[in-house]
Amino acid sequence: MSGAMRIVARKTCRPLLCVALALSLALPAGAIEEIDHLIIVAQKAPTLEKNLRALTDEVGGRVPGTPNMEQAFRWALAAFKDAGADSVTTEEFTMPVGWSEGATRVEVTAPTRFTVRSVSVAWSPPIAQTLHARVADVGEGTAADFAKAGDLMGAIVLVHSKVLRSWEDLFAEYSDAPPVIAAAKQANAAAIAWTSTREHDILYRHINSQDGEVDVIPQVLLAREDALRIQRLIAGGAPVEMEITLPNRIGDTFRSANIVAEVKGREKPEEYVVLGAHLDSWELGTGALDNGCNSALVIEALRAIKASGLRPRRSIRFVLFSGEEQGMLGSRAFVQQHRAEMDNVVANITFDEGTGHATGFSLGGRKDIDAKVRAMMAPFAKWGIAKNTTDAFVGTDNLDFLLEGVPTLVANQVEANYLENYHAASDTFDKVDIPQLKKHVALAAAMAFAIANDPQRLGKRQSRAEVEKLLHDTKLDKQLKLFGLWTDWESGKRGREK
Ligand SMILES: [Zn+2]
Repeated sequence: MSGAMRIVARKTCRPLLCVALALSLALPAGAIEEIDHLIIVAQKAPTLEKNLRALTDEVGGRVPGTPNMEQAFRWALAAFKDAGADSVTTEEFTMPVGWSEGATRVEVTAPTRFTVRSVSVAWSPPIAQTLHARVADVGEGTAADFAKAGDLMGAIVLVHSKVLRSWEDLFAEYSDAPPVIAAAKQANAAAIAWTSTREHDILYRHINSQDGEVDVIPQVLLAREDALRIQRLIAGGAPVEMEITLPNRIGDTFRSANIVAEVKGREKPEEYVVLGAHLDSWELGTGALDNGCNSALVIEALRAIKASGLRPRRSIRFVLFSGEEQGMLGSRAFVQQHRAEMDNVVANITFDEGTGHATGFSLGGRKDIDAKVRAMMAPFAKWGIAKNTTDAFVGTDNLDFLLEGVPTLVANQVEANYLENYHAASDTFDKVDIPQLKKHVALAAAMAFAIANDPQRLGKRQSRAEVEKLLHDTKLDKQLKLFGLWTDWESGKRGREK
């Protein structure tokens, strides 16, 4: 009854209403014992570490369209079967264009000569021949900075950055980019050189294009220390020239896939909860924190539910999405392929923030499900998992479910070591906090089970008008516009039709 007690403790609640609310939220008889049992079983997570080590050390980085990604699909199919899934399927979808980095080389040639540690920005177009051009410092890349920089025709524009320290910084890193790219393109610059947001020469695979399409202007990421040196040279008055060799390879459309495992429900098997994480990753490192750890978590959550001997009322689909890093393309495809049955999707739960400890869930603007989610989360208060947020953001695989009106839960986690290793060469198995990840396996299994097993639905499926209101209330509409995704919502190509 601890879940109901949390509600009773709410100050805003009048006594009689509290009792009614507590009763309506209370788990049915026996449910508490079942969840407690599941949590104990889930924390054992017997194959979690072994599976994750195989995915990261043996398979490695997993960019869609590469042999590594194909190997990761085989890993997922085998691991889900071994975990006891009732069924496992491969649901294919098309990615718009293949991309891989060639032998990127960046060199300052004047006023002195040195090699700049660098990588290509993901899905950047190639540069046909080695580019030799002057470097123009455009500061933060604001409109005023561009105006001050003067004629940028044929120049390489160098953009400053600040060191990445928080989730807000990370969001700003993405949201600041589109206007800079538009301004550089407008000014007929030849390329953009971004200053790394990580210190100590850490390079990472950033992406600025949307929908898996090739970007509009060549872009490289420069090691922070080298970029700051160039900024100082320019500030000192010396004209700086640079050579960029960027032979990125662009491929055709290709097939990728989501791997979907199911535990069948006992009463309403056609209704289901989606517990998901993305299996794809960038390839400078081995995609351990982002998001191998939570791919292994999804598999282990399935294993725990099966091992507990419990069977939920509704089904649970455990989905490992592909193409997340190119614009949530796998989850988008899943929603499109299952559009006719979105009424049957009770909730979507996503884990995608590494292994920093969870504090609760981001509910994608759905205040109406907060009380119930908190009641279900009550057994985890002892681990500091007790508080939800009702924000909504573009950033992971819940987005297309949200646009379809389905309640979504994204685990809120503290930054821990996620940001310094984010998309970087240093995102490897040794960064993963396995004991913490085991707690999250228990959280994922318990929440997916509780929602699937509840006699009532977690929340209604919102109508298009309700989703539209939510987009405005949470300012998610602004984000969609910034990233060029609003027209898809407006035209009905993406999101609920009515
Ligand atoms: Zn991720």
